[in-house]
Amino acid sequence: MIKSENLRIDSVSSMYKFHTTVDVLRLDLINPVISGNKWFKLKEYISQAIEADKNVIATFGGAYSNHIVATAATAKAFNLKSVGIIRGERAHDLSHTLKNAINYGMELFFVSREAYKKKELPEEVKAKYSTQEILQIPEGGYGIRGMEGAAQILKQIDASSYNYIVTATGTGTTLAGLINGSADNQQVLGISVLKNNFSVNEEIKHLLPQDRWNKVQVNFDYHLGGYAKASNELLTFMNQWYEQTGIPSDFVYTGKLFYAVNDLIQKSSFSEDSRILIIHSGGLQGNLSLPNGSLIFKSV
Ligand SMILES: *Cc1c(COP(=O)(O)O)cnc(C)c1O
Repeated sequence: MIKSENLRIDSVSSMYKFHTTVDVLRLDLINPVISGNKWFKLKEYISQAIEADKNVIATFGGAYSNHIVATAATAKAFNLKSVGIIRGERAHDLSHTLKNAINYGMELFFVSREAYKKKELPEEVKAKYSTQEILQIPEGGYGIRGMEGAAQILKQIDASSYNYIVTATGTGTTLAGLINGSADNQQVLGISVLKNNFSVNEEIKHLLPQDRWNKVQVNFDYHLGGYAKASNELLTFMNQWYEQTGIPSDFVYTGKLFYAVNDLIQKSSFSEDSRILIIHSGGLQGNLSLPNGSLIFKSV
């Protein structure tokens, strides 16, 4: 199901100055649905569910959440039931993400935005399953186990030669894992895809031992209009990046990540002899919500 042997490192250094190494770790290739960082963030929760004899995984997300569909597909692969608690009313036409989650056997429960904030199991779920059989995974996989799973990303390859590791940041769980899994001489940089989400710094620290707090580094300059906003500038960049590198990206996370790294290199924010590893965290299914023809590459 998860094909770690499919992941690889692509070099995009030829686009940049002679001494700068820029590589992309293609976690998007491990599975089309459970792609990228989502598998790593889920794996420790799944082990916990199996060990504790839980047979239902319940989690939270919006209508376009990569985490929701990845949880649905992962639960199915491990013969576990899955429940998705979805923010907001049920739309007449469900998003591709939610349709796919249903295809993987996830039961969806729609809750109002106010109720969603509490992150509680709806009564209908509690009526159907006993709370002992349910393992709850926080929204986006945020939590110590999510961080521990993400820390394994850097174990898939020999990452020792890189002095920068850069990733897209939502909840910060992946960044926390990369920080935990990094060597002392490596800087780990997160590119926030949410606008002014400064509290993420504290949320990341919360997942890390105190002696790692000084490694937390998030750049807030590349939200490009805010979460899940697909500006023409971003889509144009994603198409150009694909033409130049052959690497597809998604408009919510990795498009902004590549945009940011490209821009920071142009602005000489990294020293010229830097060795940069960009984490392609997957999420390509999210592009299905874009109008047809927005992108020159197929996402799934
Ligand atoms: C969820 C997601 C992220 C964000 O990961 P966090 O651990 O929440 O920061 C990054 N990239 C992709 C493709 C994602 O789906």
